[in-house]
Amino acid sequence: MKISHISIGYIQIPLVTPFKTALRTVDSVNDLIVKIEAEDGSVGYGEAPPTAVITGDTKESIEAAIRGYIAPAIRGMDLDDLGAVMQNMEKAIAKNTSAKAAIDIALYDLYAKTKGQPLFRLLGSAHPEHVKTELETDLTISVNETDEMVRDSIRAMEQGFRILKVKVGKGGAKDVERIRAIREAVGKDAIIRVDANQGWSREEAVRTICAIEDAGLNIELVEQPVSYHDFKGMQYVTREVDTPILADESVFSYEDAVRIVEEHAADFINIKLMKTGGIHQALRICDIADEYGVQCMTGCMLESKVSVSAAAHLAAARGCITMADLDGPSLCRIDPYQGGPLYQGPKILLPEEPGIGIAGVPVEFMEV
Ligand code: MG
Repeated sequence: MKISHISIGYIQIPLVTPFKTALRTVDSVNDLIVKIEAEDGSVGYGEAPPTAVITGDTKESIEAAIRGYIAPAIRGMDLDDLGAVMQNMEKAIAKNTSAKAAIDIALYDLYAKTKGQPLFRLLGSAHPEHVKTELETDLTISVNETDEMVRDSIRAMEQGFRILKVKVGKGGAKDVERIRAIREAVGKDAIIRVDANQGWSREEAVRTICAIEDAGLNIELVEQPVSYHDFKGMQYVTREVDTPILADESVFSYEDAVRIVEEHAADFINIKLMKTGGIHQALRICDIADEYGVQCMTGCMLESKVSVSAAAHLAAARGCITMADLDGPSLCRIDPYQGGPLYQGPKILLPEEPGIGIAGVPVEFMEV
């Protein structure tokens, strides 16, 4: 089945509350949507957020990469040889992982539809015993003044979330107080993950995490304590503290993942499709994680339901992915799409419809 048309469009969805991390503040999702059609008229959808501070990808660069390089390289190719299509995409342009992810997601959605299978069943076909049909996601608590973070955490618990991903990294000593206040407010049973988004120095990270440990605040893990390129710093923090360290911004590619696990520069890896350049590369990271027995989280940027659901299908398919940080749709004020996984508070229920399951995307598309 040949790839006949590739189109793009844009979607804007307001957030319930502004999203604030050590790196940025955003108040709506503004993403590019990709539509790929096969010659029989079936359609696959993909999505990419411009997350310039993390991936380096802007709205303009994503569109230019698809329009000028990726689309011409894969149009007319046979979808059944998905590996060759991915290879042509990789060869067409270096980096540009968000643009590649949007195309990759649309291709997998379309491919699974032509096979009449839900994507998670297809991706999990080698190990059906590991396939899940339901995931539990955390909810992000933005970094703010402590009392506001406490209020947001209580609201999350009232909405049924049991796992909070607390953004810190804006002052080590103050960060300990933030976690202490949140732990006191939510009780001992809530699971608290902490994401510093590269906000600490090595020494500050060790000092802060040890203080959290000494205070008995019982956090599950700390994500990306230091700068993404400070590999030695990641190793140092991982060695010096008891709390597991999760690498996020430090791992984009398969090669990054190999280095992290081989040199033990983190305990866990956060796989995000926008960093890997889509599912085909994420699967390679899952393979190395399986080989080394490393647990992974699947996360998202500020994305809506198309690409977050692709990540949910991947998480459902692979046993190494034991943690889901897929709260993008929960942060959106509305769900403009038809079909797809159900996001019920912390629960994500995978549909048995073919592909990702999304049937309608309210976007004006233009062919590229
Ligand atoms: Mg993170």
